[in-house]
Amino acid sequence: MHIPSKHVYEILVQKGVEYLFHANSVATASMFLKYRSLMSRGNTERNGLKQTPQTSDDVDKRYSVWYDIFLDAVDIHRRASKINAYGPVTFVIDVKILDRNNTGRIWVTKLNPTKWANKSEKHRWFQNKQDLEENFFVGRFDQMLVLRHCGGELPLKNYISKIIVDDPQIQDNTGVDFYSMAVGALKISMSESELKIPIERRICIPRCNCLNMYKLDINRTSLMFEPYL
Ligand SMILES: [Zn+2]
Repeated sequence: MHIPSKHVYEILVQKGVEYLFHANSVATASMFLKYRSLMSRGNTERNGLKQTPQTSDDVDKRYSVWYDIFLDAVDIHRRASKINAYGPVTFVIDVKILDRNNTGRIWVTKLNPTKWANKSEKHRWFQNKQDLEENFFVGRFDQMLVLRHCGGELPLKNYISKIIVDDPQIQDNTGVDFYSMAVGALKISMSESELKIPIERRICIPRCNCLNMYKLDINRTSLMFEPYL
């Protein structure tokens, strides 16, 4: 069920949210920067652009969220002390983007679509402003903002405050480290689109498990850091 973006904005601000987050692979994030917009998986595919495959792609198509853009109200890597499944590049976006009518009406999930089997609409989506006021908890990963009324494209200019990039502390077989490669690719895309957004190396808390996870699944890590597809 869609909720006016103004209501979503007001409730998020009330609950202390200042920024929204969108995590993706290096290649997909670079493509977004080149086109100065976040794009839905479906739009990217329809426009003949390349994006890193995600394990959620089949579910997204099945539940008709393939043309939608997803935002989190929390930095999942920091909150969970582990890698974000969607990728090592995190866009940090000012929550005010919701207040300026850029987004159209907003849908908010109660459960991640990967858990939607046998669930009713009421259990999949927040139903209205009151439902959101009472039951939205900042930091609950299942609760995601879904933009379904912005044509699958969300211009970032003026609202993206920084980009956080994970440093897996791994080098490729030519000795170039993944972090530097990622930053290089993001900067090239920004220079093509004349964007100037600060890039920050992620600083993890000591018990963060991301380095172990990056080393354990090196194929996935390579895929997520691969700058060009
Ligand atoms: Zn970490």
